[in-house]
Amino acid sequence: MSFELTYYPCGVCGSKQYKLLYIIKNFNLVQCNNCRFVYVNPRIKNNELYKIYSEHYFSNQSEGYGYRNYELTSHLRIKTFQKWMKNIDPYLPPSKGLVLDIGCAAGHFLDLMRNRGWEVEAIELDKQMAEKVRAKNILVSEQPFEEFISNKKYNLITMFDVIEHIPDLKTTFKKLHDLLDDNGVIALITPNFDSTQRKLFGKRWFQFKPYEHIQYFTPQTLAKVIEPYGLKLIHTSASGQYADTGFLLDRLDRYNFKFMKMAATFATTALGLKNKYWYMDTGSLFAVLKKQIPSKKIDV
Ligand SMILES: [Zn+2]
Repeated sequence: MSFELTYYPCGVCGSKQYKLLYIIKNFNLVQCNNCRFVYVNPRIKNNELYKIYSEHYFSNQSEGYGYRNYELTSHLRIKTFQKWMKNIDPYLPPSKGLVLDIGCAAGHFLDLMRNRGWEVEAIELDKQMAEKVRAKNILVSEQPFEEFISNKKYNLITMFDVIEHIPDLKTTFKKLHDLLDDNGVIALITPNFDSTQRKLFGKRWFQFKPYEHIQYFTPQTLAKVIEPYGLKLIHTSASGQYADTGFLLDRLDRYNFKFMKMAATFATTALGLKNKYWYMDTGSLFAVLKKQIPSKKIDV
């Protein structure tokens, strides 16, 4: 696929002044001089960007973006969603409600929530995945969130590894605010530019995928971008995912650590770790957002 590139202002503060940080796969990663937000500029035009996601995003054999085979690691993803659900738990409203999962992939998180008695709804752009989720009797919209229309209010809105893909942040956070129940919460997970992993790996950090990851938040830039839309951060912490040795070896390969990969392959076999998995920090940020409810004045 070939794409047309365009320059955009900072998605957080609107400034057009920035400095170049890294060049990755011929894309420029820049940092806003005003608010320090990191983003890809120039990047694939907004109206073309969503073409990446509509066909075989989760079974993509071409280089550059997407997953090679999402389903192959379903067991690890389900374990990861169970862990994330536990992390969200303390912030959920007391009674069961309606959850919207934006970018639901195979719908594993929604399966877990439905088992807990929640009503579930999804947005998924990948046609093949949307079809699978629909087959489980889940209502799925295939529209980008910026164009999604609903007259419902949601008690929980989740965006797992999604916000970094979204071109129009202002429309997104305004819509999130409008769709969220007054007592509802938004839970999101996104690569954290301030994480130790990013600092350690520099431009080789695996989260730098400039075709599709176009926005790189920190807790500070996330708090800044949501504030004008009546949302506030109520929790941030480090997040990760379950991985097995196959995942680790793939990462070492991607980072071009050939020697480490050879050593790890040897160790995996020698130590019998082939089917072991564990939870690892991926340099991601887990954030919980709520509505900023203006306090009512009491007349005395
Ligand atoms: Zn900025």
